[in-house]
Order: sequence, then structure tokens, then C-alpha cells
Amino acid sequence: MTAKILDGKALAKATKEAVAAEIKENIKQGKRAPGLAVILVGDDPASALYVRNKRNACEAVGMYSEHHALSNSISEAELIAVIQKLNSNPLIDGILLQLPLPNHMDSDKVLEIIDPAKDVDGFHPYNLGRLAQRRPLLRPCTPYGIIALLDSINEPYKNRHAVVVGASNIVGRPMALELLLAGSTVTICHRFTKELEPFVREADILVSAVGKAGLIKGEWIKEGATVIDVGQNHLPDGSVTGDVEFETASKKAAWITPVPGGVGPMTVATLLKNTLLAQLGFPPLII
Ligand code: NAP
Repeated sequence: MTAKILDGKALAKATKEAVAAEIKENIKQGKRAPGLAVILVGDDPASALYVRNKRNACEAVGMYSEHHALSNSISEAELIAVIQKLNSNPLIDGILLQLPLPNHMDSDKVLEIIDPAKDVDGFHPYNLGRLAQRRPLLRPCTPYGIIALLDSINEPYKNRHAVVVGASNIVGRPMALELLLAGSTVTICHRFTKELEPFVREADILVSAVGKAGLIKGEWIKEGATVIDVGQNHLPDGSVTGDVEFETASKKAAWITPVPGGVGPMTVATLLKNTLLAQLGFPPLII
């Protein structure tokens, strides 16, 4: 078998076009553009690049965007005050706090200050709780983007064993909840899972979100599986690779995401979709 490529770049482009069309139509009918506020604390170059990409994507679809670049030395109380002001700003529908925060801040505490109705990253315990209770509102961008990718190939979900490798709050755990919601039988592997191989061999749907190049051996992949590689690992030669051995995995999987060009573009597109949903109060979108 040679796997078909699950093209995140193409689906992300289509999603952004649909968001842009919806915003244009809403503006024609007298609504304002949705607004996204992005908060960056400190001057970490990788975080600055992520923030720039998100802002550019936001403006390209016709959204209003605000950038709050705060100094590394700002106190937690000052950051909380910025968030509270954005919570009550009627022009802002989504608030994105770029992580990681400086060491003197408690990320969990600060994230909980964001109004859950403006939590377009979907990290607030309220939104994760809603997802856990099968009543999702704003859903974490990377897992929700992966569901859009799986939907695009009509992944059957039900009576399929989904194995998620990695259990972080932002990818692994909500991914498992999304797959459970979709009807799959779900297993989560994490750092205390002694042997990954027997689980991976059983996976009809495999999602790896660890951040270790080559962790998942291609030969472990089940014949005909759908393989989603979330890992983004920077190699010494400057290239980026996933967690899964792509070449060998492609010989066994039915579908596989490339890295780059798979999950990454969908994360940003989903952030835009979430911001539009937050503004409109969750009507069905044609996305
Ligand atoms: P993270 O917070 O470091 O979480 C990694 C998870 O993997 C943790 O749950 C960790 O366990 C687990 N783990 C570590 N070693 C393991 C092993 N040998 N076997 C199984 N599980 C293991 O990272 P993250 O934020 O979830 O991101 C994961 C990867 O996805 C990174 O490469 C990141 O760059 C990438 N990513 C990509 C996107 C995108 O849009 N493409 C978005 C987000 C993240 P513990 O919980 O016990 O530590």
C-alpha cells in the first residue's frame, strides 16, 4: 500500500477562504468584523514568529486584530489586568495568549482569567470540560483541526481503535476527547507507557503528539491505518520532521499527514474559524 497524503495546507486554505467569505457577507449585512487580540509576553523569537503568522492570517481573512506585546518583566497581576480589559472589550471576540509564559507566571491561573466565550484556543477548563461532557463550544485548535482533516476523508471513527501518543493539555488529551466524541475506541499513550509498539500496531487511527523525531517506527503502523503526525521536530540541518518515520509508514498507512504541511496549517485555520464562531455564537457554518 502507498498512503494517500492528507493535505493540511489545501484544507486550511479552503477553510480560510470560507471564513473570509462568511466575514465579507456578514459585513455586507451590517455586522462588524470579528476581532482577535493576541498577547505575547517577552521576546522569544519562536513565539514572536507564531504570533506574527496568526496575526497575518487573521488580517488576510478580514478580521480585526490587536497585538499586545508585553515586556518579560511585566507582573502576573499586570498581565491579568490586560486580559480583563480585553474580556470586556466589545470589539474583541477572541483572546489568544501565546505560551509559554515567563517562569514567574502561573500559566494555568492566567489562562483561567480569559472569558471562556473568548477562549479561541479552547484551553480554558470550562471549554475542555464542555468537550469532555460531549457539549463542546470552543474547541482546542490543533485537535479540532485534526478532526476537520479526518472528516475531509470521511474517516469512519466508529468501531475504529484510535491511539493517541502524547497526553498534553493542548494536544494529546483534547485529541483523545475529540476522538471519543466522534465514536472511536480510544487509547492514550504517554511517557509512562513502557512499550508503544503493541499499541501503535493496533491503531486504526494513530495520532502522535510527542515531539520526538522517529519515535514511531514506520513498520509498527497497521496496514490501512490513518496516521496523523502532530510532532514538529527541528533537525540540525534546519529542516522540520514529525514523530513518525514517514517513508516506511507511508508503505503501510492508507492516509498520512506530511510534516510540514499536515496538521500545522490546520491549527491556524481553526483559530480563525473559532474566532468567527465566538463572534457569531456558534451558528452552523458552511466550513
Ligand atoms: P508537550 O507538552 O511536550 O507534550 C508531549 C507529550 O508527550 C506529553 O504528554 C509527554 O508525557 C508525552 N511523552 C513524552 N515522551 C513520550 C514517550 N516516549 N512516549 C509517549 N509519550 C511521551 O508537547 P505538545 O505541546 O503536546 O506538542 C507535541 C508536539 O506537537 C511537539 O512537537 C509540538 O511542536 C507539536 N505541536 C504541533 C502543533 C501544530 O499545529 N502542528 C501544535 C501543537 C504542538 P508527559 O505528559 O508525561 O510529559
